[in-house]
Amino acid sequence: MSPITAISTQIHATYPHQPTFLQAVDEVLATLAPALEANSASNADYARVARLLSPERVISFKVIWSDDAGTLQHNIGYRIQFNSALGPYKGGLRFDASVTEDILKFLGFEQIFKNALTGLPLGGGKGGSDFNPKGKSENEIRSFCRAFMTELYRHIGIDVDVPAGDMGVGGREIGYMMGMYKQIVNRSEGVMTGKDPLIGGSLGRTEATGHGVVYFAEAMLREAGKNLVGMTAVVSGSGNVAEHTVRMLIAKGAVVLTMSDRGGYIHKPEGLTESDVNAIMSHKNTGSDLATLTHEGIEYRTGAPWQTVVAEAYFPCATQNEISEADAKVIANHATLVVEGANMPLCNEAVSVLNAAHIPHAPGKASNAGGVAVSGLEMAQNAGHYPWTRERVESELMEIMERIHTTCKEHGTESWGIDYFKGANIGGAKRVLAAMEKLGW
Ligand code: NDP
Repeated sequence: MSPITAISTQIHATYPHQPTFLQAVDEVLATLAPALEANSASNADYARVARLLSPERVISFKVIWSDDAGTLQHNIGYRIQFNSALGPYKGGLRFDASVTEDILKFLGFEQIFKNALTGLPLGGGKGGSDFNPKGKSENEIRSFCRAFMTELYRHIGIDVDVPAGDMGVGGREIGYMMGMYKQIVNRSEGVMTGKDPLIGGSLGRTEATGHGVVYFAEAMLREAGKNLVGMTAVVSGSGNVAEHTVRMLIAKGAVVLTMSDRGGYIHKPEGLTESDVNAIMSHKNTGSDLATLTHEGIEYRTGAPWQTVVAEAYFPCATQNEISEADAKVIANHATLVVEGANMPLCNEAVSVLNAAHIPHAPGKASNAGGVAVSGLEMAQNAGHYPWTRERVESELMEIMERIHTTCKEHGTESWGIDYFKGANIGGAKRVLAAMEKLGW
């Protein structure tokens, strides 16, 4: 049995009840194995890889909050402090009914590599709750956020763990959690990122993930002497990442055909305009579904767009495993590129289909790293007590996305083109494993 097979067997035997985490581990190990073999890795190197798969700390706590009827409710809160070799744990908080330890471990594991790729001093973590924000009043959201922080505050700190937003957690929720943190510790410090600029946030953070996705797509296309002008694009999701990916794609001259939510997708064959996106987002921001949107020229369909809308570029920006193997087989017939805005939106079989078809496709840990990168810049601004201009933040973001692309190219170049999954995994792992070695881990 090869050392990587032994590591894989062991982790599968330990966590058979965490299939999403195992999926993320399998994807990484599959690309690391040949690289370790080619470099005649030592037993100590393999042991370090095995250690990288275990979180440094898994914290779970009860969150008791009051609903509008005055009834006490409770949910489970989590913080997975996965790896701090490169710096304080850093990663978002997700509030969604689907949240489990499995989901957060997969996200925390991916975050280690993503944060390493940014080149910033950031470890990897993730957290959240199975609290479902859908249909909750403003008061209930605030009540939950404050209750969540009364438990989380003791585990975080500017040099320990700096959470941010993710699905179901935006600037509003971060503000409520920060407010509670400040009341408890009586200190003004940047312990969370994604804050409103008025309370210490960075300009450009809200847009950063989506903008970074598009900058990364441009870098990928440049390899083939192409650009986004006139290129048709299918985008999924209608949350933070999708919105700013779509807005930037439109600004770059791409023809965006779709956006989606849990119920279905909207389709406009001539391409969405900036004013269409304003209408879509105003509708979504009232808590409504796309199904009830009435807007000229936009058609609504149930299901997902992958097998029904033909495009040159695909940007899955909603959630994990949204593209199946069957979807990928259809996409492979006409795609020029696939760029992940969400974390792990392709199942591993879908990744293999695109690989076999030699279609450039970027993993979220590389292409959606712009969000955490600007969070890192927010930490720098907070530590320096000095806010940067939007232009400075955007220009640093562009530079970081270029650097991540260069790393992927350096470690992922194959005879047929760039294997971005391989490049991102090896590039990220090299930095983390070297740091672990220097720390004596
Ligand atoms: P939001 O909560 O703002 O939006 C999520 C979107 O995805 C919504 O449109 C939601 O639909 C849709 N969605 C959620 N679950 C499903 C599902 N099971 N099937 C179909 N659609 C679904 O989240 P974000 O935009 O922040 O995050 C999207 C993805 O990007 C996640 O994978 C996240 O981890 C990743 N990411 C986010 C970053 C950030 O800075 N926010 C940074 C890096 C990665 P509905 O409106 O119906 O709820």
